[in-house]
Amino acid sequence: LDTLARRDALTGLDNRRAFVEAARARLAAGEPLQLLVADIDHFKRINDSMGHAAGDEALVHAAGVLTQAAPHGSIVARIGGEEFALLVPAATDPTALVARIAAELAHMPAPSAAGLKRMTCSFGVAAAHPGERLDSLLSRADAALYAAKDGGRDRMALAS
Ligand code: GH3
Ligand code: MG
Ligand code: MG
Repeated sequence: LDTLARRDALTGLDNRRAFVEAARARLAAGEPLQLLVADIDHFKRINDSMGHAAGDEALVHAAGVLTQAAPHGSIVARIGGEEFALLVPAATDPTALVARIAAELAHMPAPSAAGLKRMTCSFGVAAAHPGERLDSLLSRADAALYAAKDGGRDRMALAS
């Protein structure tokens, strides 16, 4: 039951609650980390034009892509409806990681005859300051995500 309470039923990823607990522990241990928040662009359109089931399929695809792309030792979680978090080692090059994810997102699996052609994400990236708490890190990554959306989507923005 405890495991089920921490897992997102659709994608099998950690849910927000599991993410918060694990991320807090990793930050408290003083590990050098950075946070990427990824939000699918215009996801409502996918649901509206192709139906909720196609939207679910797109979420599962995105979850698989993020899991595959994340460096060893990352935490990958679904923290909102069409929003994901990746807590990755600080040494990870976010530009290369985001480019890899964007390329893979474009390859919807063949069985997805739902008609989904293209899916993009926007990313907000924040490197944890020494001693920074998760709330602060998340809000800086979120602010960067907003900037990426504002800048036209399908892009990454770095937190200040
Ligand atoms: P933006 O580019 O600004 O992020 O636009 P958006 O359409 O992606 O964002 P918005 O927040 O307007 O819409 C998110 C949609 O995600 C609305 C909601 O119905 C849908 N959604 C949330 N959870 C699920 C889910 O589990 N399955 C499906 N199919 N849709 C979901
Ligand atoms: Mg969203
Ligand atoms: Mg969205």
